[in-house]
Amino acid sequence: MQLIDSHCHIDFPAFDPDRAAIMAACQQLGINRIVVPGVSADRFAEQLAVVQQFQGLSPAFGLHPCFLTKQLIPDLDCVRQYCIENDACAVGEIGLDFYSGRDNQALQMELFEAQLQLASELSLPVILHCRKAHNEILHALKKLNFSQRGVIHAFNANHQIAKRYVDFGFVLGIGGLVARSNTHKLRQSIRTVGLAHLVLETDAPDMTPPGLSRRNTPENIPVIAEHLANVLKLDFYTIANTTAENTEAVFSLT
Ligand SMILES: [Zn+2]
Repeated sequence: MQLIDSHCHIDFPAFDPDRAAIMAACQQLGINRIVVPGVSADRFAEQLAVVQQFQGLSPAFGLHPCFLTKQLIPDLDCVRQYCIENDACAVGEIGLDFYSGRDNQALQMELFEAQLQLASELSLPVILHCRKAHNEILHALKKLNFSQRGVIHAFNANHQIAKRYVDFGFVLGIGGLVARSNTHKLRQSIRTVGLAHLVLETDAPDMTPPGLSRRNTPENIPVIAEHLANVLKLDFYTIANTTAENTEAVFSLT
């Protein structure tokens, strides 16, 4: 059996006290790979140091829209350099957050489109962050004729939107939200696209599944897999192995 966390910020300071213990626990649980997205250029060095310290961590580098106050267009050169020099599996996480940043939408869009172009230039997939901006993101993918695929992370939209991402070759990142009882829309999206287009993620240290009061960690991946198994009426091992294969395929992991 194989489990992969396709989106975890294991480099964040929240894990400084016990990162080694968490990584050891993940090995015990069968979580043998974790994709670690970047958020801002000023964190890349520290992120890389963590990725190099443990086995099974695959880095991505990108400028996250929620960290925009710190992002500069010259930081794009930094993203390019880190991706090339460190065998990045994706450009990410990138995208649009119109929930927290309503006053800087034009700047977010500029940075997002520039990073989509960078991903095309480097032949890398992308890890997309989206809040209140699916139409704008899908429009940008179409406008730039983006063909590198990727993950739409923490997916929580309706099945029509889900289908549009799948048509672009994207997979949906399924995390702690699937464990909530009031997510009819998400469950319908999951059933519409099917297991072939889904990957598991925790987004730790954020997005703790309900009922687990402590900080979110990648150790919660089996909990998410179980909830997904219930939604799709499939067994745990099929969920674990297929989502792992999907993750390896989209990020060309070996
Ligand atoms: Zn994230």
